[in-house]
Amino acid sequence: MRYIITLLFSLSLFLTTHSQAPEEVIKSIFNDALTDNTAEEHLLYLCKNTKGRIPGSQEALHAVRYTMGALKEAGADTVWLQEVPVPHWKRGNELAILKSELGSIELTISALGLSVGTGPDGLEGNLMEVHRFEELKEMGEGEIEGKIIFFNRPVDNTMLNTFSGYGGAVNQRISGASEAAKYGAKAVIVRSPTQAMHDFVHTGVVRYQENIPEIPAVCVSPHDAEIMSRWLKKDKKSVLYLLSDCMNYPDTISYNVIGEIRGNEMPGEYITVGGHLDAWDISEGAHDDGGGCVQSIETIRLFTELGIKPRRSIRAVMFMNEEMTSTGGAVYADEAEKNGEIHYAALESDRGVLSPLGFGFGNADNERLEQLFSLEKYFRPYGIRYFARGGGGSDISPLGRFGALQIGYIPDTQRYFWFHHSANDTFEQVNIREMQLGSAAIASLIYLIDMYDL
Ligand SMILES: [Zn+2]
Repeated sequence: MRYIITLLFSLSLFLTTHSQAPEEVIKSIFNDALTDNTAEEHLLYLCKNTKGRIPGSQEALHAVRYTMGALKEAGADTVWLQEVPVPHWKRGNELAILKSELGSIELTISALGLSVGTGPDGLEGNLMEVHRFEELKEMGEGEIEGKIIFFNRPVDNTMLNTFSGYGGAVNQRISGASEAAKYGAKAVIVRSPTQAMHDFVHTGVVRYQENIPEIPAVCVSPHDAEIMSRWLKKDKKSVLYLLSDCMNYPDTISYNVIGEIRGNEMPGEYITVGGHLDAWDISEGAHDDGGGCVQSIETIRLFTELGIKPRRSIRAVMFMNEEMTSTGGAVYADEAEKNGEIHYAALESDRGVLSPLGFGFGNADNERLEQLFSLEKYFRPYGIRYFARGGGGSDISPLGRFGALQIGYIPDTQRYFWFHHSANDTFEQVNIREMQLGSAAIASLIYLIDMYDL
């Protein structure tokens, strides 16, 4: 009898989601997402109580504990942690003063993540402005030895894809220190890679090449980069005093947080929805990427709240350490491989939580892409119309090796780099309605892909 009741119960749930037209299910998802406050509360908590959550920090552990609770509350059947080895770097005192015959001025700077420090006394050197790495080669050691290299190539504002614009400038931040150290530079100061012209400084990670001296690396606000360039033109002998007393400590342990709703029909197949929980210490990490984490939790909450029983197992994953060395995504994929899991699809939201435009799809053949593009008709009523080839995210990309469909959530990113990696990335910069249109779009897409085997 009990078996029959269970069977009838499962059948009725099966029929609710199968018998409802997809348009109706999607409408109910949007209605709930746009009227419920849970996501806003989660984002507010992460921004105001776990600010500073770089990978090896106590603040990151606080965010881990908080999102575990949020996933349980959202209705995940199982919530667990996955150990992730992470770097442990701490910012120190920071000061930069430009001195020239025009006077002296304090600049707004921020050490790059994983940078070595200057020590507590700081250092001083003549500045040299550079736009391309080739210029370093042309000048050689004779001109560069003992200098501080100022990388000042701005983001190309004519590029409509803001991520492409960023991509054209960010190599100065990532690789500039080692490129300059090859020729004996003693430090680098890098113009913040952003389309904005303001006083916020946009940090990010620096990567040192092996067997090249590691020199201190900081970035400077775009506004101050303009001033530096002007002063340098007037006085080529301008000097920079630089203090950045940051430190690298031995690696430590942090965690991915995973919440799962077990699938009704194919529990051994997985669809992952994720964002990264770590954020730069100078920001609240609202758009990057507290919002993406909250949207992932929302998929679990919306499915539970609306009684949507997924056929495959759905996982919301808060990845740790995307910003520094991306070990969270690597550990998640390694565990999946060890456990012989089948990963059907994975979506990442890590482009800010601005108004949704659509989705980009990677790792799919033409036939699958065409089926996915045909889903656009369900999203058109919500103004979401961008369904394109190519997409994913850095945390989910390691799942590509098992053939998982890669999905990147694409919002309108024209304002994203006003916030990205800066103190300007605060809760107040998020329009909750825009974030929730995204949450609904993501949950709807996951529902369709799972229900219709896309
Ligand atoms: Zn991010």
